[in-house]
Amino acid sequence: MQAELVEKLQELQQQLHAAPELSGKEEGTRARLAAFLRQNTTLQVVDTGSVLFAVNDEGAAETICLRADMDAVCNSAGRPFHGCGHDGHSAALAGAALYLQQLRQNGLSCGKNVLLLWQPAEETGAGAAEALTVLHTQKVDCIYGCHNIPGYPQGQVLLREGVFACASKGMTIRLTGRQSHAAYPEQGVSPGPLMGEVLQRLQSWCHLPQYGGLVLATLVGLQAGSRNFGISAGEGEINLTLRAERLEDLLLLQQTIANTVEALAQKQGIVVDFRYVDEFPDTVNDAALTKQLAQVFAAAGIPIATLAQPMRWSEDFGWYLKQTPGVYFGVGAGQDTPGLHTDGYAYPPGLLGPMVDIWCALLAAGAPQAQ
Ligand SMILES: [Zn+2]
Ligand SMILES: [Zn+2]
Repeated sequence: MQAELVEKLQELQQQLHAAPELSGKEEGTRARLAAFLRQNTTLQVVDTGSVLFAVNDEGAAETICLRADMDAVCNSAGRPFHGCGHDGHSAALAGAALYLQQLRQNGLSCGKNVLLLWQPAEETGAGAAEALTVLHTQKVDCIYGCHNIPGYPQGQVLLREGVFACASKGMTIRLTGRQSHAAYPEQGVSPGPLMGEVLQRLQSWCHLPQYGGLVLATLVGLQAGSRNFGISAGEGEINLTLRAERLEDLLLLQQTIANTVEALAQKQGIVVDFRYVDEFPDTVNDAALTKQLAQVFAAAGIPIATLAQPMRWSEDFGWYLKQTPGVYFGVGAGQDTPGLHTDGYAYPPGLLGPMVDIWCALLAAGAPQAQ
């Protein structure tokens, strides 16, 4: 893309960067993106109040969707910042809109209808579900999304057939026994022994013979009783992040933990309550479309690499792929770029141009065929 357009996009990215908004609160971000699209393109722009999309309708047989996320995360001081680079993702997708506009102005077509989708709340896993209806009403045949990934050469596309990113969810196990005087613990019901047993068994639950890939249960928080030394703890809470390469393995892990804890709790006279948050599916790429994408990028001179292992993190893009074939891929953010969600991270300025070029190469290719 021409330097002056990339400059315009860089300006947009910097504006988004300066006004980070947390998941589900992206009003200002949506408004800024919508204003940019209306100023610079004749695409139909729709803001649903949570999802923003732009439509390039050519009356073609195929409709493809390109998706970006736009929410920020909190830094270690608890303040919102674009620590995942979604400001860059949003601006790069606006670059795809500029490309489509150029085609229009030159009387050219890209041979397919294109839906550009900016979804909210990727970080909590809630946003894709809100955008799914747009995919249905726009009759999308296949969908593409990408994420910048520090630690890889800048601009290199990272592809993987099948699972690209793991499924995960947060699990809270709340245990309610009965408190007693610390001198008479036997008169109460402490959650302590059960909590110890859960921690001890955690590893074995991650290695069931039925699993078909990586499974992890990570302790993220543990709390029981209080700092009151006269009282034997009567309640406690364990917070785990469950993670698996395959969604079915994650569900088996969850069921195994829940059943075991339930049985142990019953024996000990403890009431147990389970809660789940931040649920992400596995992100599973269509094999044929992934191969096709590799050819498209290679033909456009874009460097590509294949990931041997799926990313351990999760992406709510997986919800789209449960309904519509598509590909989620990585774009290297530079070998020395600090990790996502760390205080030192910012979307690298040099990455925007290559990311826009990647979307343009995809749009310039023939209409994709899912198999
Ligand atoms: Zn993130
Ligand atoms: Zn992200």
